[in-house]
Amino acid sequence: MRTVLCPGSFDPVTNGHMDIIRRAAAQFERVIVLVAINATKPGLFAPEERVKLLQRCLTDVPNAEVRSFAGLTALYAKQTGASAIVKGLRAMSDFDYEFQQALTNRQLNPAVETIFMSASGESMYLSSGMVKQVCSLGGDVSSFVPPEALPDVLARLRPQDKQ
Ligand code: ADP
Repeated sequence: MRTVLCPGSFDPVTNGHMDIIRRAAAQFERVIVLVAINATKPGLFAPEERVKLLQRCLTDVPNAEVRSFAGLTALYAKQTGASAIVKGLRAMSDFDYEFQQALTNRQLNPAVETIFMSASGESMYLSSGMVKQVCSLGGDVSSFVPPEALPDVLARLRPQDKQ
């Protein structure tokens, strides 16, 4: 059984993340969506909130499970026997960073492969940062985040609006 990891901050989950996770789940037997815990960056949602939001969005993907981890993705892969890390690539601007990450992860764990999937046309401009910016300034983000996560995103970023 091939297990792969889809790591990220997911703060909050976007339709771009969902696209990559669903496509990974169609290719591999088991997908672990790994919420990276960064103690120096508290974020909009706490890691356990991000896990719950992702779980709610992934109820129809039985071979995807959500975990959080405070350490290195390459070491988590070793612990879980994951054979690959699946990452989404939006534009060339993602490439430098992702390439560096992939080489570092291979150094740390030569058994783990990094697999890149290209973003879908409709979500290639999407990022969690963009969602936070647009939503906090009053814009409509309903086409950027999964419907299961939208109420929480609105409640957190626009608490003044009556939901
Ligand atoms: P990080 O903060 O660690 O970059 P993110 O939560 O932003 O994590 O993203 C996690 C993963 O999802 C990364 O592989 C990223 O490239 C991918 N990703 C993010 N947004 C999109 C998108 N719109 N389309 C495709 N992949 C995406």
